[in-house]
Amino acid sequence: MRPFVFPFSQHIGAPSAPVVQPGDRVQRGQCIAEAGEGLGSPVYTSVSGTVLTVTDEAITIQADDALPTAYLPLPDLPPLECIRQAGIVGLGGAGFPTYQKLAVPFLNGGVVIANASECEPVLTHNIQAIERDCQPIIRGLQLAMDIVHADRGVIAIKAIHGQAVRALQQAIAGDERLALHFLPNVYPVGEERAIIREVLGTLLDAGSLPSKAGAVIVNVETLQRIAEAVDDKKPFIDKDMTVAGKLKGEEIQVFHDVPLGMAVSDVLEKAGGLDPEYGELIMGGPFMGKRTTLDAPVVKTTGGIIATETFLPGPEKIGLLVCACGADEKRLREMAASMGSAVAGVAFCKQAHEVKPGVRKCDNPGHCPGQVQRVMTLKKEGAQALLISNCTDCTNTVMACAPQLHLPVYHCTDGALRAVHHKLIRRIKA
Ligand code: SF4
Repeated sequence: MRPFVFPFSQHIGAPSAPVVQPGDRVQRGQCIAEAGEGLGSPVYTSVSGTVLTVTDEAITIQADDALPTAYLPLPDLPPLECIRQAGIVGLGGAGFPTYQKLAVPFLNGGVVIANASECEPVLTHNIQAIERDCQPIIRGLQLAMDIVHADRGVIAIKAIHGQAVRALQQAIAGDERLALHFLPNVYPVGEERAIIREVLGTLLDAGSLPSKAGAVIVNVETLQRIAEAVDDKKPFIDKDMTVAGKLKGEEIQVFHDVPLGMAVSDVLEKAGGLDPEYGELIMGGPFMGKRTTLDAPVVKTTGGIIATETFLPGPEKIGLLVCACGADEKRLREMAASMGSAVAGVAFCKQAHEVKPGVRKCDNPGHCPGQVQRVMTLKKEGAQALLISNCTDCTNTVMACAPQLHLPVYHCTDGALRAVHHKLIRRIKA
């Protein structure tokens, strides 16, 4: 097993600062880096062992042979402080410090929405956690509601997940403050403003936070980790994740409580090992995941590790159509290069507005504004095919025009979906 690596930047906010030195003995659950100033979050070691190195970016620890499950507990603290001390951040991928999200109580009513949408295809660890035991999630939701003085709690989940829905219905019976809301099976329904739109009927503009609609949205694994921190005094040291794709074992596997800092290669070994014929490794989901390496560590926001199918060869020149909620321009360029295609032009969905350099947000996530103009522009720029990262609704629109212009369409999710024999994201038939 490779040494465990704990980067100082694992979330949105200031990097943490080390409090250990090379040669130190550490115990699982011990704080190894304290929160930095400004949206900081501490880092705890998930293993007992010896500190090997402390660099400007990370702490490396050689774990003892046995990986214990016991941990050093957090001190007895009020719930919000406990969440802060535990180092919990948003686990749906964003990594925003959870204590900050819960820091301002509602003055009048308010709703905490548990995000169980798990809208990235292939990823399934959130739904499996609900099916296995949803009590910690419900407990975390109740704790979050108490902290922000919310009078309602809503669990937003896709109606297609029948077993998880039944488990939740049974678990919330008896607490009349709690309800379920069923989401459509589209991408990106888990985006925060999409959830607000679906659950509360309010479309927030791209710069607004859920608090403007009287809501706080918390991912379901984050809620589970809140319950562990408050009730079991457990710091945030383990992560649930989906491991999928070109594996020697089953194509899609879920692992509960993978210790943070473990190398991708060791996680893949737990999944039976990597098929040597693969395209790339992704950390995250097929839409938003980033290319990773075998020696990269599992971090707080790691929700998936996917070994994709080998890249299909692309045409000489390809046009990129970029979504704010899918692969960004840099990622699409990386994929185009792997396909052997030069980029003929880049177009952005007209709802994907740049809110700060390099960061785009969608005006109305998942509701297509029309794509014909962008497709025709890319064709004029010399594209012989398109590589797109659009949401399901916009992909449908692209598919209504691109083939008529003799432009084959590739989607950023293709490699991951082909690796697990999923239907590709293309035309949605009414
Ligand atoms: S409308 Fe455009 S920017 Fe918004 S989610 Fe769909 S493709 Fe992305």
